[in-house]
Amino acid sequence: MKLKISAIFLLMFFISSCGEQEPEGGNWYDALPRESWSNYEFIDTNQDWFEVYKLTDNTYAIYEPNQWQEAISYLLIGSEKAMLVDTLQGIGDLKAVTDQLTDLPIIVMNTHSHYDHVSSNFQYDTIYGLNKPYTINNAKGKTNAEIDGGMTPETIWKNLPRTFSFDLYESKPFEIDHFVENGEIIDLGDREIEVIYIPGHTPDSVILVDRKNRMMATGDSFYPAPIYVYSDTSSFQDFFISAQTMFGFTDDVDFLLPGHNETMQPASYLNELRRATMAIINPTTPFIQGTGTRTYEFDGFSLIVKDPLDFGIRQGD
Ligand SMILES: [Zn+2]
Repeated sequence: MKLKISAIFLLMFFISSCGEQEPEGGNWYDALPRESWSNYEFIDTNQDWFEVYKLTDNTYAIYEPNQWQEAISYLLIGSEKAMLVDTLQGIGDLKAVTDQLTDLPIIVMNTHSHYDHVSSNFQYDTIYGLNKPYTINNAKGKTNAEIDGGMTPETIWKNLPRTFSFDLYESKPFEIDHFVENGEIIDLGDREIEVIYIPGHTPDSVILVDRKNRMMATGDSFYPAPIYVYSDTSSFQDFFISAQTMFGFTDDVDFLLPGHNETMQPASYLNELRRATMAIINPTTPFIQGTGTRTYEFDGFSLIVKDPLDFGIRQGD
């Protein structure tokens, strides 16, 4: 079954590539499908835009493989409630997918409020979030102009729902029903999720720690690809401290659930991330110079930070 799925994707990739002239350096989707997803049980739903995988008995990944962000949501199922970690980009009907996976009431908890993580929040009744000015502002939604180039035909590979319109695309507003405190434990019934504040990528980033099932949702604070810590609202100073905070959970989790590209990464990356942030503050560590950025490459991921480095400068949120 797994082999068959991979073969179909390879065929589609071949067909897709044949008719188009590839830009120099290839297409963003040349890396797809990513081999690691074939390790998990594929769950068929009636929503072709998403790919759903069962990671454990009570944990699903909902992946958007056909848009360059390759965003991933997670559905964590307890005995009484479920938590939907992030809601992707508002393409396709995410609620129709989660309705097929559980009948339990769903709490949405975002790892941070970037539009590629919150844009189907509006479909759900119960949203938890941080009481931060950054979050409150993002909850107002983003217009097509504000997203500016983030959603164009070039960012889509295939399977775009027929009802989708690039011109009308926007990130719809949502209301936060409950403000979560740092360290708060959300009880799903026989499954407790701990919310830990880890600013850096954004002023409102969190990790979600499930000690019993030994997993941690990391959002965009760790995934196995270039990690962005250079935007106006990012802070490497904060990210440095947060990497130490994340490392503190090394003995409590076996794997990480990242917000993009690939799932189920080993918890050993927590140590690698901490070491990476320490390497970055060492002025002798080599980096790739960009315009206003530095890219530091490590084994399995890279970190893009501001140039000059914003370290030793305390930023407000
Ligand atoms: Zn983000």
